[in-house]
Amino acid sequence: MGFWWRPLGELMALALVATLFGLADGTRAGFAVMSTGLLALLVRQFWFQGRLARWLEAGTLADSLGAAPRALGVWGDIYYRLNKLLRRQSQSNTELANALGQFQQAAEAVPDGLVILDENDRIQWCNPASSRYLGLDSKRDHGQYISYLMRQAPFLEFLRERDYSRRLVCRSPINRETALSMQLVPYGAQKLLMVRDITDLERVDAMRRDFIANVSHEMRTPLTVVGGFVETLADARDMKAEDMRPYLQLMQSHTQRMQRLIEDLLMLSRLESTDHERVDEPIPVPALLHELAGEAEHLSRGRHQIIFRVESDAWLSGGSQEIHSAFSNLVSNAVRYTPAGGSITLTWKQENGQGVFAVTDTGEGIAPEHLPRLTERFYRVDRSRSRETGGTGLGLAIVKHVLTRHGARLDIQSTLGRGSTFAAMFPAERLLAPPADNVIPFPVERSDAA
Ligand code: ADP
Repeated sequence: MGFWWRPLGELMALALVATLFGLADGTRAGFAVMSTGLLALLVRQFWFQGRLARWLEAGTLADSLGAAPRALGVWGDIYYRLNKLLRRQSQSNTELANALGQFQQAAEAVPDGLVILDENDRIQWCNPASSRYLGLDSKRDHGQYISYLMRQAPFLEFLRERDYSRRLVCRSPINRETALSMQLVPYGAQKLLMVRDITDLERVDAMRRDFIANVSHEMRTPLTVVGGFVETLADARDMKAEDMRPYLQLMQSHTQRMQRLIEDLLMLSRLESTDHERVDEPIPVPALLHELAGEAEHLSRGRHQIIFRVESDAWLSGGSQEIHSAFSNLVSNAVRYTPAGGSITLTWKQENGQGVFAVTDTGEGIAPEHLPRLTERFYRVDRSRSRETGGTGLGLAIVKHVLTRHGARLDIQSTLGRGSTFAAMFPAERLLAPPADNVIPFPVERSDAA
C-alpha cells in the first residue's frame, strides 16, 4: 500500500490546485489547470518509462547495476525497488558461480579421469586426469564425438552396449603400460565416463597368481616323489630293511625340502604382515660371526675354507632372530653355490660409518643381468642347481625384507666364474657400542683350512 501514497498524493494535490483555480477563476480555469497537470504527469510517466526501457536494455546484469537512473517520487521508488531486485540476483549469481568454481576445482583434482558426455556421446567436459589416461583435451575436444577420438574396438562396443553395470578393462591409448578400468554412469540425458588407473592392482594380482603357481609347483615335485616311494614300499611287502633305506633317505630329504619351504613361507609372511612388530635388542655381531662360521663349517662338511674377519667390535640394534636368519641365508648360499675347494669369507666391519656384514665366496658367480632380480621370490639363476642344493628360492627375498625392516640394504657384487660378495649395509644409527664387560678383542681373524 505504501507505494500508492505518492501517486495518490500527487493527484490529490493537482485536484486541490485545480479546485482552487476553479473557485477563483471559474470552472474553465479549474479544468484547464487539471488537464494541463494531468498532461504533465502523463508526459513525465512516458519519459521515465523510456528511461526504464533504456536501462533494462543495458547488456549485462553488472552494466545495469552500475547505471540505475535516478528520479524522485514514484519513479524513484520503482527504480529503487528494481535496483534492489537486480542486486539480490547479482549476489546469488556470484554465489552460484563460486559454488560451480569450487565443484569444478574438485572435479579437476580427482585422480580418476572424468568425462561428461551428452546424449549423443559428444564430449561436454573432461578433467586433467582424463588427458593423462585418454589423451583428451577439455578445450580442443569440446563437442567432439568420443568415438572419433577413441577408436579401439572394445571401447566402441562398450559405448554402444550402454550396459551401465559393466566395467571395461583395457590399456591406455597413450601408454600401453597403463591398465585402465572404465565405467559409464548415466544421469539425466548425460553420461559420466569414469576412468581409473588399475596398473598397480593388476601387478599385485599377477604377483599373487605367480606366487600361488610357484608354491604349488615347488610342493608338487617333492610330494610326487614321496607319494611314489610310499606306493613302491606299500607294494613291496617282503623288501629287506637295508633295501628300503635309500628310499627312506630320499623321502626324508624331500619332506625336509617341503618343511624348509613352509618355514620360509611362514617367515616371509610374518615379515610382510604389518602388525608384526620388530623387537629391537642389542645383537652381539662379533659373537654371531663365530656362530655363523660354525654353521658354515657344518654345511660345508670340510669342502671349503671358511675364513672370518671381525674388524669392528660394534653391536647391532635389531631383531636378533631376524638378523640371524638373514645372515645365515647369505652364508648358506655361499656354501651351496661354491664348488668344493673354494673359500668363503665372513666379515664384520665399519665403512664410512656404516656397519657392513659381508659374505664373499669364490664360487660360480652371477651374470649381471640376473642381479636386479635375485631378491624376487622364487627367482633363481639356475632352477635345477638351486633345487639340487636344497634351495627354496626364498632366501634372498627373506634377506631383503629383514634388511629393509632394519633400514639396511643388500649390496651384491659378482663376477661370473670368479665369485660373489653379498654385503648387508647398516646405517650408523643401528650400531651400538659393545657393553664394557663383553668386549671381544679385535681385529679377530681365523682361517680354517679345508
Ligand atoms: P635359493 O634357495 O635358490 O638359493 P635364494 O633366494 O637364496 O634362493 O637365491 C636366489 C638365487 O640367487 C639362487 O637360486 C642362485 O641362483 C643365486 N645366488 C644366491 N647366492 C648366490 C651365490 N653366493 N653365488 C651364486 N649365486 C647365488
